Amino acid sequence: MRGYDLTIVGAGPAGLTAGIYAARAKLDVVLFERMLPGGQVATTDLVENYPGFPEGISGSDLMVRIAKQAEKSGLNVQSKSVEKVSRRDKLCLVKTDDGEVHPSKAVIVATGTEPRSLGVPGEAEFKGRGVSYCATCDGPLYRDKKVAVVGGGDSAVEEALFLTRFAEKVYLIHRRDRLRATRVLQNRAFENKKVEFVWNSVVTEIRGEKALESVFTRDVKTGQISELEVDGVFVYIGTLPNSNIFEEDIQRDERGFIITDQNMASSIEGIFVAGDVRSKLLYQIATAVGDGATAAFAAEKFVEER
Ligand code: NAP
Repeated sequence: MRGYDLTIVGAGPAGLTAGIYAARAKLDVVLFERMLPGGQVATTDLVENYPGFPEGISGSDLMVRIAKQAEKSGLNVQSKSVEKVSRRDKLCLVKTDDGEVHPSKAVIVATGTEPRSLGVPGEAEFKGRGVSYCATCDGPLYRDKKVAVVGGGDSAVEEALFLTRFAEKVYLIHRRDRLRATRVLQNRAFENKKVEFVWNSVVTEIRGEKALESVFTRDVKTGQISELEVDGVFVYIGTLPNSNIFEEDIQRDERGFIITDQNMASSIEGIFVAGDVRSKLLYQIATAVGDGATAAFAAEKFVEER
C-alpha cells in the first residue's frame, strides 16, 4: 500500500491539467487512468474552439500533446481502474481494481462522462455492429451508406457533419424543431446537402435481420411512425456522469453531476472534482482545463494546510 499527497482519477483534459500543475508544485502525485490517456476529446475529429489552434486540431493530437506535457512535468501516470473513492479518519482512500487501497491526503476526480443511450428495442442488440456512440471511430465503415444521427446538441451536429465525409446520406433525428448546437455548427449542417433533418421525432426502435436495416421514429406532434432505411445509427443524446466511484452521500445535482464550490471542492473534505463529471454551466475543453488547474491549486493548499 503506497500513500500519496494527491491522487488524480482520470486522464482527460481536466485530470491531465491537474496533474501538470500538481507535478510542477512538487506534490507526491499519481494519476490513475483505466484506458489510454485522452478522455472523450480523443474521439473528436476536429477541435475548433480550443484557443491557440487557429486552424483547429484533431482531438487525439491535442490530447497526445497534453499527455506529453504531463509526462514532461514528471507526472506519474498509472494504468489502473479506480473502483471507489472515500474519506476515512482524515485520509482519502482510493481503491483500485487490483484490490489495492491507496491512502491520499487529497483526491481530484476527473472521470468525465459516458454517452447516454436511447433505451429502445434493438439498441443493445446492434451495439458495436450498427449502433455507435463514436463517429470518429466507426464513421469510415459507412462509406457510401446511409446513417442516422440522433440528438440536436453540439456532439450530434458535429458528428453528423463528420459522417458526411463517408456516408451518402445522414439523417439527423431530433426531438424538437430547433437545434441546441452552437450556431456555427447549425449553419454548416443546414448548408450540407447530405444532411436531412427529421424534426420533432424520437427513435422508437432499431431493426434488422443479421445487420441493422432501419430505424423507426415517432413524430411527437402527430404520433406518426416512420421507418428510415439506414445502415448505422449514431447516438448523441447527451451524457451521463461517471460518478459511481463516489460515496452515496456526496452532493450531486438532479442529473447526478457532482456539485463543487468555485475551488472545485466537493461536499466531502479533501475530494476535489474537475471537468465534465462536475455540475456546471459550460462543458468544454477550455473549462475542463480551467477546472483541472483550479483543483490542483486548491488541493495543494489543502495538503499544505494539513
Ligand atoms: P447535449 O448538449 O446535452 O445535447 C443532447 C441532445 O440530445 C439535445 O439536443 C437533446 O434534446 C437530445 N436528447 C436528450 N435526451 C434525449 C432523448 N432521450 N431522446 C432524444 N433526444 C434526446 O449533449 P452533447 O451534444 O453530447 O454535448 C454535451 C456537452 O459537451 C455540451 O455542453 C456541449 O456543448 C459540449 N460539447 C461541445 C462541443 C464543441 O464545443 N464543439 C462538442 C461536443 C460537445 P433537446 O435539445 O430537446 O434537449
